[in-house]
Amino acid sequence: TGASRGLGAALELALCRPGTHLATLSRHKHTRLDAHAAAHGTVVKQHPADLTDAAETTRAIDRLFATMPRNAERYCLINNAGTVDPIGQSGTLRADDIAQALALNVAAPMLLTSRFIAATAGLRADRRVLNISSGAGRKPMAGWSVYCSTKAAIDMYTRSVKLEQGDSGVRIVSLAPGVIDTPMQARIRASQPDAFPALDNFKAMHATGQLSSPDDVAARIVAYLERDDFGQTEIDDIRNY
Ligand code: NDP
Repeated sequence: TGASRGLGAALELALCRPGTHLATLSRHKHTRLDAHAAAHGTVVKQHPADLTDAAETTRAIDRLFATMPRNAERYCLINNAGTVDPIGQSGTLRADDIAQALALNVAAPMLLTSRFIAATAGLRADRRVLNISSGAGRKPMAGWSVYCSTKAAIDMYTRSVKLEQGDSGVRIVSLAPGVIDTPMQARIRASQPDAFPALDNFKAMHATGQLSSPDDVAARIVAYLERDDFGQTEIDDIRNY
């Protein structure tokens, strides 16, 4: 999910390999993906979906799973789409903004994971779910109370699903990707210091070249996704590898 820009866009390109079938869910298309996939022997279908809309998301998932090959060796779901908004301290937050963040960062990955588990049940295949979390879900940040809470929620959801699936079911990980040079970071740098007191730190990290490139992180995540021990450490951080 969230394949049109940022980390998701880099992940889609990195996942293009002969024999792979890719399906994406975002509001916008990845402009270079179709040509890149064709050049790498990958079948790709970009499904338009606003993941804050549960009904639209359900319809898009049903379309996606209806055309999914049933004979793959491995099925992977990557829940990557996310928003850092609303940025602001409690006391200034608006109902719609809170609801949108919860819908995109929490409800959509839960719904997608649930449908993925059901749609791949009974298939003789390796099944993996990778939730893109954040260090912000593990350490509080002033001005990011909604974002931090959504990522903490996805960490706990991951732990609960792992318990349900046991040793022979779907393997699931919630992975923090580090600080990456994406449009989300530009959005953070455009916020106001009264809304986000750590703003200067984020501007400094950008100015001193401390942000990872999306392509580098995507390559490391694709390698992580293929690890034999995937799922053993369900709350993980790509910076540990
Ligand atoms: P970007 O904001 O750069 O990209 C977000 C992606 O999510 C876009 O492809 C966008 O596609 C999609 N998206 C946003 N809203 C919706 C929606 N309503 N419906 C469907 N898709 C949507 O984010 P990043 O690439 O930086 O972040 C990717 C993930 O990594 C997120 O989960 C984020 O929380 C996490 N992360 C990022 C960090 C960073 O430093 N960048 C640090 C830690 C975690 P479209 O607009 O086409 O719908």
